[in-house]
Amino acid sequence: MSDLQAVKGTKDIVHPEVALWQHLESAIRDYYRRFLYREIRTPLFEYSELFQRGIGETSEVVQKEMYTFLDKGGRSLTLRPENTASVVRAAIEHNLFEEIFPLKFFYIGAMFRYDKPQKGRYRQFHQFGVEVFADPTPQVDAEVIFAAVDFLARLGIADIRLHLNSVGCSDCRPGYLQVLRAAATAAGEALCPDCRRKAETNPLRIFDCKNEGCIGVAASFPVVTDHLCAPCRDHFAEVQATLIQMGVLFTPDPRLVRGLDYYTRTAFEVTSGQLGAQNALLGGGRYNNLVRDLGGPDVPGIGFAAGMERLVLHLQPPEAGDAILFVAFQSEAQLSTAIDLARGMWDAGYAALLDYGGRNLKKQFRKADRVGARFTLVVGEEEVLTNQVTVKDMRTQQQQRVAVRELLPWIREHL
Ligand code: AMP
Repeated sequence: MSDLQAVKGTKDIVHPEVALWQHLESAIRDYYRRFLYREIRTPLFEYSELFQRGIGETSEVVQKEMYTFLDKGGRSLTLRPENTASVVRAAIEHNLFEEIFPLKFFYIGAMFRYDKPQKGRYRQFHQFGVEVFADPTPQVDAEVIFAAVDFLARLGIADIRLHLNSVGCSDCRPGYLQVLRAAATAAGEALCPDCRRKAETNPLRIFDCKNEGCIGVAASFPVVTDHLCAPCRDHFAEVQATLIQMGVLFTPDPRLVRGLDYYTRTAFEVTSGQLGAQNALLGGGRYNNLVRDLGGPDVPGIGFAAGMERLVLHLQPPEAGDAILFVAFQSEAQLSTAIDLARGMWDAGYAALLDYGGRNLKKQFRKADRVGARFTLVVGEEEVLTNQVTVKDMRTQQQQRVAVRELLPWIREHL
């Protein structure tokens, strides 16, 4: 084996797995078209400041996981660890808030985090996600969540659970954070050193700790839903009522806080019972201040991001790929006729393969078998003289002669 290998935490996607990715990508485009989402493609890297300001200095992602580097011009750049901040940046920069209606976007692409690699967790991974701007209603939160869950169901992903919470707003969260900080400080040494630090910087993050001891202690901490202001409480009640109306099952989870700092009000996550430790399929929420905080107008937003590697794990291989035609020739003298024949198949949109260096028919038939050809089209001396092709059915092994000008209709009929 060569000593050159893919970077730790990255992964090549090759045949046949790549077919699952193509299927997933076209399913996303097809599904989200119905709700008038338009695709948005932003650069893979941005000025580091965007993520520092957007995601929040105290988040794990910004503190520990960003791929940040200086380019040759001395600018600090970062490979995007998520895409919401970039979409917001692009929307502000191009004044999409004025130009596009409805303000519904989806994206598909690679993200980069210096995470600890393990099954289902990579350093370059892929997310698809949506962002909806300028609609503050609880009904749109429910629509975004409904579509996320419905899309997973249509992909055939079973055993999923929707966790739902409200993390409050800038009016009510500061009060809750004070109560939470007091509880965390009182817990003292019962929390791990990391969580004791979080008690100072951002106590909400304590709920993300995977340490058994901390999970136990945090279970008795006050929960945010007991400290919501009246407008946040009403909003959350409406989200739940609309979800019920739409037939979406959910589990209220008052300790769901999400890893990124920009969320306000609705926060949600979908997990799978079949994924083991890395069981989160998607997560998102409302962010009413992010656009303004990044220098844009006072426009609310809501969105989510889904981990595509984890979705692909649940997908079944497509039933059948393209039917393949193998073009074989008896000897060098028929090679140019064989090329013409293959060219005709490609022009007509068929998948056709030709073994240019094919030495004899036996070897070519072996290759036709290997590639799973449905029919092999053979040209020999006699076929050229009579303007015919011998068609071998690779399933039944039966052969028959077909006139060249009849070949396309014949194939159309028999494939
Ligand atoms: P987040 O942006 O952290 O809310 O993550 C949204 C979704 O992206 C998660 O639910 C995962 O499915 C996926 N995800 C996040 N980080 C990784 C990673 N390092 N590797 C693979 N998938 C990830």
